[in-house]
Parts: sequence; structure tokens; C-alpha cells
Amino acid sequence: MRTTANPSPVPDEALPQSLAAVAIRPGDRGYDAVRHTYTRLGCPAAVIRVRDHQDIADVLAHARTAQLPVTVRSGGHGISGRSTNDQGVVVDLSGLNKVSVLDARSGLVRVEAGARWGEVAASLAPHGLALSSGDTGDVGVGGLATAGGIGLMSRLHGLTIDHMHSAELVLADGSVVRTDAEHDPDLFWAVRGAGANFGVATAFVFRAERVPEVTVAITVYDAQDTAVFLNRWGAAVEAAPREVTSFLTLLTGPGGRAAAQTMTVYAGTDAAAARAALGPLLSAGPALRHQVNTTPYHQLLPAGHEPHYAQQPLTISRSGLVDHLTPPTAEAIAALMGAAGMVQLRSVGAAVNDTPPTAMAYSHRTQNFALMAATVPALREALDQRWEPLHPYLNGLYLSFETRTGRLQLQDAFPGAVLDRLITLKAQYDPEHLFDNNFALPSVPFPA
Ligand SMILES: Cc1cc2nc3c(=O)[nH]c(=O)nc-3n(C[C@H](O)[C@H](O)[C@H](O)COP(=O)(O)OP(=O)(O)OC[C@H]3O[C@@H](n4cnc5c(N)ncnc54)[C@H](O)[C@@H]3O)c2cc1C
Repeated sequence: MRTTANPSPVPDEALPQSLAAVAIRPGDRGYDAVRHTYTRLGCPAAVIRVRDHQDIADVLAHARTAQLPVTVRSGGHGISGRSTNDQGVVVDLSGLNKVSVLDARSGLVRVEAGARWGEVAASLAPHGLALSSGDTGDVGVGGLATAGGIGLMSRLHGLTIDHMHSAELVLADGSVVRTDAEHDPDLFWAVRGAGANFGVATAFVFRAERVPEVTVAITVYDAQDTAVFLNRWGAAVEAAPREVTSFLTLLTGPGGRAAAQTMTVYAGTDAAAARAALGPLLSAGPALRHQVNTTPYHQLLPAGHEPHYAQQPLTISRSGLVDHLTPPTAEAIAALMGAAGMVQLRSVGAAVNDTPPTAMAYSHRTQNFALMAATVPALREALDQRWEPLHPYLNGLYLSFETRTGRLQLQDAFPGAVLDRLITLKAQYDPEHLFDNNFALPSVPFPA
């Protein structure tokens, strides 16, 4: 289903008249509040707080004519910081942030790209609905829903994109498309994993799940023998029923001892079943603190990172997917702590792996863990030296946690035929490579 939003005539130098009221430029009041992201300082020529598809088409036409870099921003929480730029235009979708329940019984909800996942969760809660979307309320809908979405109920409900029913986009030529399994199905395939390369996503329809309350366990373990602990925790997660999803952060605890904090969600209300399911995870290592609560899902997503001023100093991030936390894998992950300010593991597996790998551009459907390690720029080389030995144990990459965008990262994110298909589709939907600022696809396949 496609309609056209005609780009307005573009003056040579200035922005089109239609955008003057929503453009925030250097020198304008409010510029400092919109120029940066969570991880990066920016100096864009204009941040355009778009109101509708027409504004977006106008910005794209202007950027093309004026040969300005274009950046798309939903929540500004991209780890790579690519939702700002220097001297270009930013398409800021924060004003397109409605969340509408279309049909509470079937769980169909329409969510605009500029909403934050914390807002989505809070809006769906009164209807008894939820979408598994990640662990942070500030993250924007558009960035996460065009890449994957590894959330706190992933093992029961899959990735966020596994729930996508349709997506609305403004394409590079200004046309507006609503894509689903029946309409532009190739584009729908590409949007779910590689969406940033194909257009400006403005809204999505998802099928949300009925989620009354969840049981959440926060545990801090002594993890001095980090590899042994990771190996045990990994085995316990894999053996757990799919109601259990666990996210882990390695920490330096009291007295410099290695520690680990886990947030484990049992996405069900049966207290006895939750206790039985969480028990083996608690035995993964000596627990220093352990707290279990029953809570509405939306309470799990903290927010409060606004306004953005590049406050996150860990701007170098490495990402890999892992099948199993075998002893050598766990050793290599433990070694990252010497150079990383943050090492996190998020469990995937179970329902995530129910979807066939060919169903969408995110094709990683055998792995059980998503690993990320982040550090400050001064420790980039040190981190890479420790990341290198991990390679034999990694199986693919989730692009939202990776700040490099080279050939190897593209090939890991989109293995084999997936990358070839994306390159073909890119030529069709974005032949001039307007949307090339985040994990840009090449024009032709890489030489063998
Ligand atoms: C603190 C923190 C916690 C996180 N936790 C999780 C987690 O648990 N699970 C998980 O899966 N991810 C997680 N992430 C990663 C997060 O999903 C990505 O960084 C995501 O891109 C952020 O979305 P955003 O809209 O805020 O990003 P933005 O910074 O606005 O955009 C990032 C990039 O996404 C693309 N993009 C954004 N909006 C659109 C759009 N509407 N159309 C097309 N392309 C678009 C653009 O290329 C842009 O450069 C976390 C990130 C942070 C900072």
C-alpha cells in the first residue's frame, strides 16, 4: 500500500518554508537540548522535529538537493551515537510518539517510532498487554524495532520484531509505504533487522502479549571465579523454562572482587512455578544479595536519561552472539573485564529461536546469549585485544550493541545470503544510499 507525499520545492540554501516552524538550528533556543545523543556530541545544521510524513519527505528532498548528511533519530539512545551528526540534518521523530491499542482482545497495538519503550509499556499496562523490548525505558521505538529488540521476556515471547505486524515508512524518494507480509513483503523482511538502511520508519503495528504481572529476581553474586560462574549461570539459563529470561552485568564488587548482577524475569504469575524456575539460577554462585518481587512489567523499564548530553562515556562497544557459555567461551568473556567498563549478557534462545532464520533480516535463531562489552575510547585497543580471542566462540552479531560498521561486522550481522538479499533490496529502495549512516549496506556484494 503506497501513497506519495510530494516534496515541496526546495530553496537553494535555506530549509523549505514548510519546515521552518519545526527546525531547530544552531543559535535557536532549545538547540542544546536536541543536538546531542546519549553517547555522542553533535553539531547538526538543523534538527527537524517532524510532524508527519510530508515533513519527512521534505527533509529528505532538501537533504538530497543540498547534499547534506541525513540522520534519523527516534529516542536518541543508539549506542553508536549515529542519530546526530555534524553539519547535516536530523530527522527527529520524537513528536510522533502515539501509542494506540487497536484491539485489546487480539493485542494489536500501533506504536509511533518516536515513543520510548517505557512509555509504550506504561500505555499498554492498563490493557493487561506488554511487548518485550529491552531493559531501558528511554530507548526509542524506532531504533530498536528496526534492529531486533532483545527484551526481558525474550525467551517466552521472542524479539520485539517477531511481534511486528506491519511498518509504515517514508522511503528515500519521499513515498510513504505501509509494509506487511502481503504488501512489499521483501521490504517487510528487510525492515525487521536492517530497517535503518531502508527508510524512515514512522509507526509499527505489533501484536502485544497478555502479561498480567511478572516475577523479577535481582541477584548479586560473588563471581571471583568469573568463568566458572558464567558457565554455571549459562547452563542454568539454558535449562530454565522459557518463562525465564535473565540479563547479567559483570561488576567489580567490594574490595575489587569480581561480582555479577542479574535481573531475571519469570514471565508468569504462578508463584510456586516461579520459585522452582528461579532456584537453579540462584545456585549459579554465592549470592551476596537476592531480592524477588512481583511487579507489573512496565515497572521494570527505568528511564531518566533525558536530556542527552553524551552522558554515557562508554562509547566503544563490541557485540557478539553466543550459542553456549562453554568453559573456554566463559574464560574469554571473563577476560574482557580487564579492558571493559561494562560486560553484559542477555539471554535469547527459546522463543527467539522458534522463528525460522529466513523469516526476516535478523536471522540469528540458534544462539542463547547476546554479549556486549563497552569501554571508553582510551581503552579501545585493549578491549579489541581481548575481544579477538572470543571470535571462535561467537556466532553472529546484534548490530544495536556494536559501534564498528565494517565489512566483518556487516557479514556477522547479516550472514551469507541475508546480506546478498539486503544489498539487492537496497538498490531497489534506496538506490542513492541516502540512509547510509548506520551499518551501511554496500552497493554490490563484497568480493569473495
Ligand atoms: C542504556 C541502553 C540499554 C539498552 N538495552 C537494550 C536491550 O535491552 N535490548 C536491545 O535490544 N537493545 C538495547 N539497547 C540498544 C538499543 O536498542 C539501540 O541502541 C537502539 O537503536 C536505540 O533506539 P533509539 O530509537 O533510542 O535510537 P536512536 O539513537 O534514535 O537511533 C539509532 C539508529 O537507529 C536508526 N533509527 C532510529 N530510528 C529510526 C527510524 N524511525 N527509522 C529508521 N531507522 C531509525 C538510525 O540509524 C539511528 O542512527 C540499549 C541501549 C541503551 C543505550
